[in-house]
Amino acid sequence: MFAITKAKPERGIWSSDQPTLTTPGRGMVMVDVIAAGICGTDYHIFRWDQWSSGRIRTPMTIGHEFVGRISAIGEDVSGYEIGQRVSAECHIACGQCMLCRTGNTHICEKTEIIGVDRPGAFAERVEIPASNLWKVPDAIPDRHAAVFDPIGNAMHMVTTAEVTSRDVLIVGGGPIGLFAAAIAKAHGARSVSVQEPNQARAALAKDLEPDLVVNPRDPDCTSRILDVTGGRGPDVVLEVSGNGVALNAALDIAAPGATVALLGIPGGPVELDLGGKVVMKGIRLLGVTGRRMYETWFQVEAFMLKNPELIDKVVTHILPARDFEQGFQLMDDGACGKVVLDFQDIGQGEVA
Ligand SMILES: [Zn+2]
Ligand SMILES: [Zn+2]
Repeated sequence: MFAITKAKPERGIWSSDQPTLTTPGRGMVMVDVIAAGICGTDYHIFRWDQWSSGRIRTPMTIGHEFVGRISAIGEDVSGYEIGQRVSAECHIACGQCMLCRTGNTHICEKTEIIGVDRPGAFAERVEIPASNLWKVPDAIPDRHAAVFDPIGNAMHMVTTAEVTSRDVLIVGGGPIGLFAAAIAKAHGARSVSVQEPNQARAALAKDLEPDLVVNPRDPDCTSRILDVTGGRGPDVVLEVSGNGVALNAALDIAAPGATVALLGIPGGPVELDLGGKVVMKGIRLLGVTGRRMYETWFQVEAFMLKNPELIDKVVTHILPARDFEQGFQLMDDGACGKVVLDFQDIGQGEVA
């Protein structure tokens, strides 16, 4: 079967011919992939930065944001049928550790991630534990269902940081930043500002009608954010760029007592004046990873059903899976929102 694989430990990503998966293991199902989103994580793996080169064992078929149809069901699986349309939580938790058993499955110490630690969804077929499946309602089209996962990242970040009635600054206008802007508005933020240097992404952010879209390289960036936030600076910063310089600037402008949620993965260590920028300002720093299982999934489904037009503003490209190189190039150029790859008939079908 066709798959998109990190074949060797260097920059790049390649197509590969893998043995077609047939019989699912106990508790597992096979899902024939309809469509899959290219994630920032996949882009990290493409670039082979410090994080990905320390984590991935090549060769590895990547991809973890997807929708597909169940094509085979293993032993000890109930409640699912062949042909059913599903997405899935890509974090496979152990279910037994202290974190799993105290409602924190998303930070299980033994988490394996589909497309990072085990073969992923950028393939004609992927094997998934039935316990990780999410049934997709008919009203949600494939191009939206394929991005449950990153909308879940944005939802988890926005809900954890508690944005209602507060001034929110989103640092980075990539897909998760864009989804976060839409969700923060829907959750009653007092104001939403998006900081993004790339013009194409800034234009996408403007389409979502936040209170401010600002280029961090503009000399009046700080004063414009202060204008929107009543002169105090944001009470909530959602850092999705992974850029150390941007994080430092965001900590400078954040109001004392602000919550600063970090979701972007820096390519390496970041230097911070913790004393001046965090301790003395009483900043609450939050690392955000994955999605709460499965509270976040319910929240995302409700958001998708109510706001399909917002999701269409962020999903900017649907490409045949075989044109994946073009998708990664778009991400390299920052010339896109979310890019979705169409795996139906490996590009012959059309994603609805
Ligand atoms: Zn993702
Ligand atoms: Zn666990």
